[in-house]
Amino acid sequence: MPHVGQYDKKYLEKNEEKYIETLFLIGSFLGPFFVFVWDLLIPGKPLHLQIISWGIALLLPISFTLKYVSSYIKRNLSPIFYGVGYLITMYVVYLVYYNNFSKEYLLVLLLVVFYYTLTFEKLSSLIYYLITIYVFVTMAVFLRRINKNAYDDSGLVICICLFVFSFIAVFHLLKRNKDKRSLRDMALYDSLTRLPNRHFLNLHLDHVFKAAMLNGKSAALLLIDFNKFKNINDTMGHSFGDAVLKQASIEIKKCLQENDVLARFGSDVMVAVLENSGQEKARLTARKIVERFTQPLNVEGLRIDMTFSIGVSVYPNDSQDADSLIKHADIAMYEAKSRGRNKVAVFNREMFEAISRKVELENGLKSALKNGELSIVYQPQIDLVTGTIHGVEALLRFRHPELGMVSPGEFIPIAEETGLIVPIGEWVLKTACKQNMIWQQSGLPPITMAVNVSYRQLKTKGFILSVRDALSDSGLDSKYLELEITESVLRDAEELKSILEELKKMGIMLAIDDFGVGYSSFSMLQHLVFNNIKIDMSFIRNIPESSKAKTIVKTIIDMGKNLNCHITAEGVETEEQANYLKKYSCDIGQGYLLGRPLDVADLEKLLRCNFKK
Ligand code: C2E
Ligand code: MG
Ligand code: MG
Repeated sequence: MPHVGQYDKKYLEKNEEKYIETLFLIGSFLGPFFVFVWDLLIPGKPLHLQIISWGIALLLPISFTLKYVSSYIKRNLSPIFYGVGYLITMYVVYLVYYNNFSKEYLLVLLLVVFYYTLTFEKLSSLIYYLITIYVFVTMAVFLRRINKNAYDDSGLVICICLFVFSFIAVFHLLKRNKDKRSLRDMALYDSLTRLPNRHFLNLHLDHVFKAAMLNGKSAALLLIDFNKFKNINDTMGHSFGDAVLKQASIEIKKCLQENDVLARFGSDVMVAVLENSGQEKARLTARKIVERFTQPLNVEGLRIDMTFSIGVSVYPNDSQDADSLIKHADIAMYEAKSRGRNKVAVFNREMFEAISRKVELENGLKSALKNGELSIVYQPQIDLVTGTIHGVEALLRFRHPELGMVSPGEFIPIAEETGLIVPIGEWVLKTACKQNMIWQQSGLPPITMAVNVSYRQLKTKGFILSVRDALSDSGLDSKYLELEITESVLRDAEELKSILEELKKMGIMLAIDDFGVGYSSFSMLQHLVFNNIKIDMSFIRNIPESSKAKTIVKTIIDMGKNLNCHITAEGVETEEQANYLKKYSCDIGQGYLLGRPLDVADLEKLLRCNFKK
């Protein structure tokens, strides 16, 4: 652990400057004030003495003004201030001596010395100052004795007074240093864990980088995130959460070496800085931490299971400044989190690019609706018996201004994660219903419009209302709207049951999308009412080569029929696939063989052709 004192100066410099400045300002008022009082108490001094004393008194206000005028003075504020202090004091000692140690001059000397002793920064400088005056005054006393063979009490008095002042000043300085220490503690340490805080971390990273650069070595940063720490706080209370954090930090420290620093970075995030460490050593240390927490933590007699996600980045390879090194460790940490709990990930460029692209897409999506960068294409769904268009599936498209066309497989999960899918989904629903109505009104035979709905949308309170709005705004009959819900989201069947039943009551068709690759396929069919089962394209793709795929497809068709559902096959690309599906009475086919997703104009042409047939 590095010595904390090395970071004091940097942090305290600013406060020190303020401190001196304040004293300076006070001095500017006190100087003239003392002289004024002195003039009042002892009137009738010779003019030259008055001029001198006022001159001295005004020195501080003048230099205070100059401080703001000249940056040079600002930079050398402290030496100038003390220099002036020395000169004034010496001059007053001189006046004291030549005025035969008269009481007035002794008083001025005491006031000047008192004033300056309170302003000294360093104990050593203060002692020099006091010794100098003490020596000068004592010399003056002796000189006077030698020269004039006279001894008076004033000299003795002033020596004693100086002594007393010295004590006051030293005491004052010691106390201030103590205050400084507690200020430093507050500024550099976390009050709960007593670990260094963010500010300390930044200073330490600076120091580590410099050392690493000089020695040609590397240093590693571990960003340690407690998984689901909020749950502990919520269930056991915040003070217990604090105790867990404290205990955990002690255990993490045990996994580190003596020179490594563990800092508290956020409420449940810690950062470890490993000096002289490359990627491998950092990875091993991170593993050691993860390993330690496979055993429960004992906090106040309770056994607490904790897991971490740790991201690692290395100086200078990954970054050469503190902020981006932390940012890169953060990126790695998110990657670790996405791999599950108790995982370690080491930062690399691909990770950075993937995250940057994700962030760019996320930002793009935020304004995509407003900027008209979203559009819908419609893929025909063909009745395999008659060969006519049964319906279309609305598929969302996003053209990013810089990245160009982005696939839904990439941007839909981001929209879901960020909740942007809710307004976007609403727009898709409205636009698709309106489009279907336009086709119907233009005299084309009515078709079903299938719209994909994500889990996040279904769970939103206003979802049913937005479906109602889409239907009433467009005037579309609800039987021409089909909502496609991916099978995997239906594992929360119980939770979604009432919503699906409500939709059903409204007369809307419901389809299970990507059937066969998700969860709980059969139990869900028992509880929920669907009109349509869409067999996932991964099964169709393997027809006719895979006999297993063929059997699965046939079985799903049989089962669907028995449950009174329509069956749609997705991803039909070859004649053989279409023939197989027809042979086993699959109702509807969708795929590149039967029709690619088309824009409004092209689909309209197709519908007209189909109609004429
Ligand atoms: P999905 O609902 O299963 O849509 C079918 C996907 O299969 C579409 O991909 C379609 O272009 C593609 N496809 C159709 N026929 C074939 C074929 O013969 N071969 C192959 N290889 N692919 C075919 P797309 O348009 O890229 O959409 C991907 C997924 O994105 C959709 O899968 C759906 O889950 C989601 N998605 C698209 N639009 C929306 C939307 O508006 N809202 C929501 N929530 N999800 C959407
Ligand atoms: Mg779909
Ligand atoms: Mg699908």
